[in-house]
Amino acid sequence: MRWKEDVLQLTPYQPGKSIGEVKRQYGLEKIVKLASNENPFGCSGQVLEKIRTFDNSLALYPDGYATEIREALASKLGVSEGQLIFGNGSDENIQIISRALLRPGFNTVMAAPTFPQYKHNAVIEGAEVREVQLVGGEHDLEGMLNKIDEKTNVVWLCSPNNPTGAYINEEKLLSFLKRVPTETLVVLDEAYYEYVVADDYYDSIELIKQFENLIVLRTFSKIYGLASLRIGYGIGNEKVIQALEPAREPFNTSTFAQTAAKAALEDQSYVEMCRLKNREGLEQYYQFCDQQQLSYTKSQGNFILIDFKVDGNEVFQYFLERGFIVRSGVALGFPTSVRVTVGSKAENAEMIEIMKAFVFEKIATQSSQTHTQQ
Ligand SMILES: *Cc1c(COP(=O)(O)O)cnc(C)c1O
Repeated sequence: MRWKEDVLQLTPYQPGKSIGEVKRQYGLEKIVKLASNENPFGCSGQVLEKIRTFDNSLALYPDGYATEIREALASKLGVSEGQLIFGNGSDENIQIISRALLRPGFNTVMAAPTFPQYKHNAVIEGAEVREVQLVGGEHDLEGMLNKIDEKTNVVWLCSPNNPTGAYINEEKLLSFLKRVPTETLVVLDEAYYEYVVADDYYDSIELIKQFENLIVLRTFSKIYGLASLRIGYGIGNEKVIQALEPAREPFNTSTFAQTAAKAALEDQSYVEMCRLKNREGLEQYYQFCDQQQLSYTKSQGNFILIDFKVDGNEVFQYFLERGFIVRSGVALGFPTSVRVTVGSKAENAEMIEIMKAFVFEKIATQSSQTHTQQ
């Protein structure tokens, strides 16, 4: 068969280990998964209530226009309904953008390391991928500008960035947007938007009014705790959204997802609670890392990338055997780090105890090795 050659080079997405798999393999009773930046508190009780009383016929196709959630979101964000596009998670919105804009002969610019789906989709579409290394965990926007030329169709920005947690500040973003050619679409992935507390974070909805070539991606998978239902949205200029719409599958978000998302949106006090608890959780990790002199990036997301200065797979394995699934930095472009999702206060405390034990054993073995050598 005449496969797209670039696609044959790709490997399918490797999901984090599942709880059941680890339970069986290690005979453990309790497993805590802090690997995929899921909300440790689940979703709002109001969403569960809504889903319990769900009475729509499952035989009917979902509303392809996602009317109810669209109206609710448009009014919450102060944008028109035509400025929104819904996807089967942000993942699908990334795919839609790639399908509509990327092809051989053109290129796309992104940071590295960043969320892998930008590159993955660009490769499938046959576009040239231009990566610009992060500096101190942050986007090198000047470096990215230097890579943009008349063949650049899409630039991807991830803020806060996965896997570092660093964000782009308002001043830097503005200066960047002013210099990107208007022919180039800038995608600002804000999957962790609701977790951000930084004072100098920009207002991306305001920026859309100013920059017609900007689209913002958000999702119900992270703080809203609806990752399993697959629903995310893009906010952009009406013309941009109109151009993307044909690349979207007609019934890409399920009735369940639309209903749940609307209920989730209505419970903003739940979102507020999760944001606060996440901050407290991050502080637990900061304190531990500072005490142990481990380096990490300050995070505006619900995860933290910690550098243990040893093979990240080894750290991952040590935690796994003690019932904690995290993400090894090896696959994320940080070979001596692990990325840990912030859990509940108790989960974080337990995780930190295991981290302490790991550091202690490492230092102990290293010093005993030194001792033997003497
Ligand atoms: C989790 C994540 C996504 C994917 O979100 P879904 O809506 O679940 O598809 C997209 N971008 C970033 C940066 C993420 O971390």
